[in-house]
This record gives sequence, structure tokens and C-alpha cells, in this order.
Amino acid sequence: MTPRSARTITFDLDDTLIRNAFSRWVIPEIAENLANGRQKTDVARSLHMRHRRALERGDAVTAYDWQVHTDALAEESGLAAGTVDVAAVVRRHAVPDKVRLLHDKTIPVLRELRDGGWRVAILTNGFRVYQEPVLRATGLWEEVDEVFTTDDLGWAKPDRRAFAAAFGGASTTVHVGDRIDHDIQGARRAAATSVLMRRDAPFVGRTAGLDADQLAVMRAYLVKSAAAQRAAVADDVAAELLPDAVVADIVDLPPILDELGEEATR
Ligand SMILES: [Mg+2]
Repeated sequence: MTPRSARTITFDLDDTLIRNAFSRWVIPEIAENLANGRQKTDVARSLHMRHRRALERGDAVTAYDWQVHTDALAEESGLAAGTVDVAAVVRRHAVPDKVRLLHDKTIPVLRELRDGGWRVAILTNGFRVYQEPVLRATGLWEEVDEVFTTDDLGWAKPDRRAFAAAFGGASTTVHVGDRIDHDIQGARRAAATSVLMRRDAPFVGRTAGLDADQLAVMRAYLVKSAAAQRAAVADDVAAELLPDAVVADIVDLPPILDELGEEATR
């Protein structure tokens, strides 16, 4: 029997396991508190822009520091930094009708993996103060072995050091996520098996057996997804970032992990 720590699977959080409350609830509330005579929608757009620009220049650590963006906009509005405590706003909206699991069987599947000997961890570029309330509200907190956040680590995906910290020396390593740059490119740089999990996946299964036509569809999908995510990768690079497997729902994952078997050990 291999020790539990020999096999580690990490999951991205936002848009992989959960839908958070940022766009619908948190950003609008921050914008309302910072408007000070400006249009709320303009302030909200500026917040999103600051996040996106940091993502596009590959600075994920700054991108997910919502307090920094909020304080900068507060000053633009003639308000003091600290006018809005982003963590407090997130906590207020981390309730079950505003944050939710994306897949109905998430908790049974995570239990199945852990029962099967996998160490299950969350590896998120979000900060702990924003992610922990959401993990608790969705019931995930009790269902994983560890949670790694950017502010804990000092590195963000796709930096291989973020993956190395989360994998902790495991010999079999798998990462599951929705972003082409952070999750798929990151997992590949970290020499982990990469699984793209997205509802709109063009097919489900391992990519090793795809024929030329399917590969072309997959590459076009990767380019389109990377653009929609404003990923910090060029189109020709995105087309080459083929994950080892693709799933649309978390229930697809355990059979594919079995199939990947030895391939997951590299
Ligand atoms: Mg994500």
C-alpha cells in the first residue's frame, strides 16, 4: 500500500469547484461604497480592469489582491485607503445562496478520492481571507486535506513553486483546473498531470488518444478559452497547452484518474 502522501491531487477553486460571489455581490458592494459621487458601474469596471491588467501582465499575486485595488480606487475617489474592508464584504456574501458548488457530486467524489488514498488539496490564486469563508459556506473546508493560497505561499500559479509547495514531494501529482495559463500551463511546468475541468469542454477523456480532427478542435478550444480568460499566453502557446485529460463534470474524474494510472507518475 502506498502511503497517502505519495499521491496528491490539487484542485483550483474558482470556476473549477465553486462559483464565488465576487462579480455579482462583492464588487458591486465595494463600488457602491467607493463611488463618492462617481457612477457605481464605472468604479466596478475599474476594479475589474485592475484585476484583469495584472492577470494579462502575468502578475497573479497582485491580480488577486482585491484590497490593493480597492484602496487605489478609494484614493481616486478622494476616500481613505481602508474605507472598504474587502474581507468583511466577502464574509458577508459567503452564504449558500450566493456561493455554490459547480458540480452536484463534488463532495462524494472528493470523499471517494480520499478513501482511495489520494491526498486532496485546494491550490488557489485567491487569498485566504477571501477563500476560507467560501470553502466553509460550500462545505468544502471539511472535505480536503489542505488549502494553499497565494498569500500563504508568496507564489501564484502558474509558478512551479506554488505547485511544488502543494504537492509536498508526492510522486504522483495531478492538478485540476479551469484556466489555460494558471492551471494547465502551471501543471505542465510543474511536471504534474493536468486535467482541464470545464462545463463547456468539447469532449471528455484523455487527450492522448485524440485523432487529428479532434486535436484541431481541442486546440481551437484552448485558444478561445485562453482569450476569454485574458490568459497571459499567446495564441500559438495556448494551442500547444494540451492538458492530459479533459472533464466537464467532477464525476468524470475518478475513472480518468484510474485510466491515467502510471502516467500520472512522472
Ligand atoms: Mg479557476
